[in-house]
Amino acid sequence: MINIQGLVKRFNQVEVLRGIDLSIEKGQVIVVIGPSGSGKTTLLRCLNVLEVPSEGIIRIGDQALDFSKRMAKKEVESFRKKSAMVFQHYNLFPHMTVLQNVMEGLVTVKKEDKGKAREKAAILLQKVGLADKLDYYPNQLSGGQQQRVGIARALALEPEVMLFDEPTSALDPELVGEVLQVMKDLAGEGITMVVVTHEMRFANDVANEVLFMDQGRIIERSTPSDMFMHPKEERTRQFLNLIK
Ligand code: ATP
Repeated sequence: MINIQGLVKRFNQVEVLRGIDLSIEKGQVIVVIGPSGSGKTTLLRCLNVLEVPSEGIIRIGDQALDFSKRMAKKEVESFRKKSAMVFQHYNLFPHMTVLQNVMEGLVTVKKEDKGKAREKAAILLQKVGLADKLDYYPNQLSGGQQQRVGIARALALEPEVMLFDEPTSALDPELVGEVLQVMKDLAGEGITMVVVTHEMRFANDVANEVLFMDQGRIIERSTPSDMFMHPKEERTRQFLNLIK
């Protein structure tokens, strides 16, 4: 489903991703952990081409992009539709209602007519437990509710992969559970997910595999129980000890 080969990302001269090779099967939930600045967010953003990789090949489903070559804008645009991102700070449009926020991508990106888009958006908002908030504006919602709108908006694009960038780190602790529950439900439906998070319990309960990143590299990859109970690498052990 996802195949990454030799992914390098430089900002100015600084190498932030230093040759990532990674395969992820369809339906897998992969949690990415690692210290601040290790490149977790950059990896997700490269998958969605929010950042343009400096080198490497990324395949998602039936399309691959080789970043050492020039490519047509259209090619990149169609590749970007294969994944959808859920951001730490929700990034909702403040002047649009919840329903309009979720409809927006359907109308502008997927070119669906408004009636159909409205219907789909309402179903997705029901799915994330917000059927009674369709006409609210983001600032009338709690952080947890806003993030659930963010998830519905990403789902509306019917991506092959959902990318979550620390989706609960901006939330008050009592609101984290409701967002994680929605993500657990999605995992149960077999949606392929790559999740950057510090929620180790979520990783333990939901992830098929956990990746530990440090200094722009994947240092270790294993099942959650192996990662947390029997980490192989010293750097992983040190990191896990720090966050315990
Ligand atoms: P955190 O857990 O703190 O979010 P992270 O593992 O997600 O960290 P990244 O956000 O991917 O790390 O950042 C990796 C490195 O790349 C950092 O040193 C960061 O300063 C640098 N970086 C990220 N984005 C940019 C940018 N747009 N311009 C320059 N440097 C950047």
